[in-house]
Amino acid sequence: MVTDKSEDEKLFYKNELVWDTMSSDDKSKMYGISDRYIDFLDRAKTERLAVLETIRLAEMNGFSSIESKAELKPGDRVYFLNRKKNIILAIIGKTSIREASSMVGAHIDSPRIDLKANPVYEEENMVLLKTHYYGGIKKYHWVNIPLEMYGVITKKDGEVVDVHIGNDPSDPVFVISDVLPHLGGKIQGDRKMKEVIKGEELNVLAGSIPEEDTEVKERVKLHFLKLLNTKYGITEEDFLSAELSLVPAFNARYIGLDKGMIGGYGQDDRICSYTSLQAIMDTDNPEITSICYLVDKEETGSEGNTGALSQWFPSVITTILEKTQGSASLSDFYSAMTNMKVLSSDVNAAVNPTFSSIHELQNAGHMGMGVILTKFSGGGGKGGTNDAHSEFVGYLRKLFDDAGVNWQMGEWGKVDEGGAGTIAKFMARYNSEVIDLGPGLLGMHSTYEISHVADLYMTYKAYLAFYNST
Ligand code: MN
Ligand code: MN
Repeated sequence: MVTDKSEDEKLFYKNELVWDTMSSDDKSKMYGISDRYIDFLDRAKTERLAVLETIRLAEMNGFSSIESKAELKPGDRVYFLNRKKNIILAIIGKTSIREASSMVGAHIDSPRIDLKANPVYEEENMVLLKTHYYGGIKKYHWVNIPLEMYGVITKKDGEVVDVHIGNDPSDPVFVISDVLPHLGGKIQGDRKMKEVIKGEELNVLAGSIPEEDTEVKERVKLHFLKLLNTKYGITEEDFLSAELSLVPAFNARYIGLDKGMIGGYGQDDRICSYTSLQAIMDTDNPEITSICYLVDKEETGSEGNTGALSQWFPSVITTILEKTQGSASLSDFYSAMTNMKVLSSDVNAAVNPTFSSIHELQNAGHMGMGVILTKFSGGGGKGGTNDAHSEFVGYLRKLFDDAGVNWQMGEWGKVDEGGAGTIAKFMARYNSEVIDLGPGLLGMHSTYEISHVADLYMTYKAYLAFYNST
């Protein structure tokens, strides 16, 4: 029998490299998006900074605070702010939000190192700061790299001081120092991976010059506190009401000779935050209401009033109902949520060629093959996950294929290899249709995560098509 190649092509599913099918128009736009994304990563290294950058970009693109709007009409572009760490952008559609809406939800928090409430101590004529890490990290990633410090200190009189040390080239940086290999054998040699560096060993070097007065105790600590007092007007007690974080002090860059990838801290999940933001900014007068939800606290379980489990989100939907139709009943709210389509926009793990054995390659996400649709996350027999319905996946297949979006299905590693969670299951509690969609990363939750420029662009394109759906 003669093999009919065209029949093979018709019947087999084959996924292709974005590069092979991308239009020249897309290729020319792609690096515009990735340059702007790199800029976003450098400006938005914490959730507070991500919110500030979002407001700056949103206002440049015609969005204004909901506080300035007594009512909302189709085409209006507004943002809602929650405690400087959580923001929602919306463009009001022609159809009532009770009947349909499209929401893309990404998180703007990333794993990092936070200072403890009483962090400062002196030992061996050096000042160190005690820390408690935030989110799922491999602690050994965080030693021997330059760190920047960001955050706020709230004084007793209510004044809030902004802190950012390390992002200006003339600024000093901080570091957590590891044991040298020559002498580390006994203390570290037999430790398991998770304990190579222990949580209580993540102490940050912050000073080493003593106060001139040789009579005082803890001369280096005193000198350090004097510097802080001169710069910020604070005393040691003010750390009690501070929120200070350390993040890698290096900026995002293109990776590889061909500049096909991007390396940078916090791409989980600022790659989805940025692309959902850029896509809603590029949306005009949509048929149905478009919503971009940028949320905090995903990396610690979505609890807290700025996380996806906060009742702030339903309060925003209620406000949209009230300001578009004059009032909002509970039944209006539930109609809106039931008829809302949600992309939980979060990253997936792309296959790393050196560690490909953790994946089942036929169902894994691959670099450069487009944005990844993750039907379920969780672990151990789909435990603790939203598993999206066939009908919704089918709807998105058509939407993305029609819009020229390269996309792939991706499962989180081999069955029983591990697991992961996103905000998808929390949004599904409102009875909306929800699925995860985002690009694959290499080295997720490391201090320098890697994405592919073509996947970044296809993520943007997918969100744009979704916002412009009906
Ligand atoms: Mn994530
Ligand atoms: Mn994460």
